[in-house]
Amino acid sequence: MTKKPMRKIAILGSTGSIGTNAIQVVNSLDNYELFALSAHSKLQVLGEQVIANRPAFAVASDPETARKSTFPDVDETDFLIGHDHLETIASHPDVDVVLAAIVGAAGLRSTWAAIESGKQVALANKETLVVAGPLAMSLAKQRNATILPVDSEHSAIFQALNGENPKNIRKVILTASGGPFRNASMDELRCATVKSALNHPTWQMGPKITVDSATMMNKSLELIEARWLFDLPAEKIEVVIHPQSIVHSLVEFVDGSVMAQLSPPDMKLPILYALTYPDRSSGPTEKLDFREAFHLDFQPPDFEKFPALLLGSEVARNGGTTGAVLNAANEAAVAAFLNGQIGFLDITRACRDVLKQHDFDPSPTLDQLISMDLWARKEINKWIAA
Ligand code: NDP
Ligand code: MG
Repeated sequence: MTKKPMRKIAILGSTGSIGTNAIQVVNSLDNYELFALSAHSKLQVLGEQVIANRPAFAVASDPETARKSTFPDVDETDFLIGHDHLETIASHPDVDVVLAAIVGAAGLRSTWAAIESGKQVALANKETLVVAGPLAMSLAKQRNATILPVDSEHSAIFQALNGENPKNIRKVILTASGGPFRNASMDELRCATVKSALNHPTWQMGPKITVDSATMMNKSLELIEARWLFDLPAEKIEVVIHPQSIVHSLVEFVDGSVMAQLSPPDMKLPILYALTYPDRSSGPTEKLDFREAFHLDFQPPDFEKFPALLLGSEVARNGGTTGAVLNAANEAAVAAFLNGQIGFLDITRACRDVLKQHDFDPSPTLDQLISMDLWARKEINKWIAA
């Protein structure tokens, strides 16, 4: 058997939920080497990851936290301090694959650098496509970068489309667990606490995306992500509630045939697939057991209880500056909810109001999108203060 060539990976956001899962995946693969890691606030965890994995580089992206921390003395590792160094590792000539796993628009610049450098980009940071989908996809084409989705729904669609002609797609159907409030009444939603919003029934994730799952803004962001990643009109993307989180999404073709991808709710599989594509590897993933009885349920979403879903369709339809505004507004509103400044239902209300107020531009540059992001965050603060 011929030995597979060694591939070097940089994990942007190695201390997060995706990042720590990814380290386990990489360590299970013979032909992958952890070349660079990064953390923002959890520098103690970064230190432990460095001692265990001895990467060439470790980036502490927040200089404030770095100043108050000590780093382990590991001969093989250079510690780099500051946000700009995320771009240093994302574009490093020795890196083959970049896993973009920073949460929020904070991951945009480094993901951009990876695309610009023509890397294989395993993309967890959906916000890059929400904010700047058309620009990111055309840059990837220009620079010969491959973007492979890590988001489980998009990984499922990507797998279902393997070998298919995109013109034969009738629609893609994103599955959503429905989050912790799937069966909650409007009254219960009004009084939802941070603790209850963070109590996701099927997925273990970072706090921001967990709140997004509770409001269903996560599905909205995923709808926008799918719009640009697969170059599909908004009308061809639907959402269905599937509480078991086993069917990760579906594609319906023009002849009525529906292809689905199934696996237990475990992010290690889409991470593994994005790293090994077009090959597959057994990896440290959980497997379904068809000797046990289980059932799969599907139901349409409730747009009245979860109006965030409508915002995603609107943004996917209109494009331009809307994605940057919705994403930034949502990040700021979620942070305010987590800090106890606003109620649960206010998150979507604030986003809707800011989206409505913004000065729409149909074809913005990256700098304009970044300015829009800042504007939307300020508007959310005004909304909260009003
Ligand atoms: P986490 O909050 O668990 O982790 C986020 C990572 O980003 C951490 O390593 C964190 O560092 C780092 N980070 C946070 N803020 C900054 C910043 N300002 N600058 C640089 N680095 C920063 O998030 P998740 O792992 O849950 O999510 C990561 C991405 O993957 C998100 O875009 C999310 O939407 C997407 N995703 C996640 C899924 C999941 O199952 N978790 C599923 C599908 C998509 P530190 O911890 O050191 O502060
Ligand atoms: Mg997802």
